Amino acid sequence: MRVRFRYCVRCGARLVSRDDHGRPCLTCPSCGHVHYRNPAPASVIRLLGEAGILLVRRCYAPAVGACVIAAGFMEYGESPERCAVRELREETGLAARITGLFGVYAGFDDPRVRAVLILYTAERTGGRLRPSDDAIDARFWALGRLPRRIAFAAHRRALEELRNGGGAAPRRRQAPKSA
Ligand SMILES: [Zn+2]
Repeated sequence: MRVRFRYCVRCGARLVSRDDHGRPCLTCPSCGHVHYRNPAPASVIRLLGEAGILLVRRCYAPAVGACVIAAGFMEYGESPERCAVRELREETGLAARITGLFGVYAGFDDPRVRAVLILYTAERTGGRLRPSDDAIDARFWALGRLPRRIAFAAHRRALEELRNGGGAAPRRRQAPKSA
């Protein structure tokens, strides 16, 4: 659950709400520190195989037992691409290479944090499919027969766009126009 901050992380004074460009923002009256609340970036990887898209089933709250596209929050100092590949390896045992950016989504329904999901497309380069870390299952699903419980609206939207052939990448090179 999200934490409500009451005291300044720098000096310990009690925070007050001040107007910051039209929206209330917790500010320290003693040292001036502004307690900004920013969404956490998470990388997601879309790995398509012959059998469909790779999804993992969550074993921790929130949304225990629901499926998601393999995803995780970026660590400090980590690039989004590296995060996506690391999370895929940790949750599914598969190694992959990023091939493009599929889309970026705002996540508003994770009770832990507001998130920004960065969804990449990738191709498998190795590894053996073996769920671990916070996944109890990892398998490929046909796009027309996805599991009933998909966690988080951003994942559902991304899958919907994938089914409809959407996304920002990969883009085929256009054939040169004939004269
Ligand atoms: Zn302070």
